[in-house]
Amino acid sequence: MLHKPTPMTLESVQIGRDRWAVPSRSQPGSLHVITLVAGRFSCTCDGCLYRGHCAHIASVQGSIGLLPVDPDKLAAARAIGIMT
Ligand SMILES: [Zn+2]
Repeated sequence: MLHKPTPMTLESVQIGRDRWAVPSRSQPGSLHVITLVAGRFSCTCDGCLYRGHCAHIASVQGSIGLLPVDPDKLAAARAIGIMT
């Protein structure tokens, strides 16, 4: 599925080696936790449960430079097994 990344107002915070937290927009004061396991991101929100992807994951990917907008970054992402 191709779509343009939308401007992100969500801010991710790295809370562990492969864990990030993003504030929930629908439930102010709560956090969604994004984890990276075996090169795949998962998130605790409902959207991720149903679609396998969500704005929180996109926010994390953007914050660590893994959005596939730059060929060099994309190659780097492939090199560490994030994207295939
Ligand atoms: Zn999410």
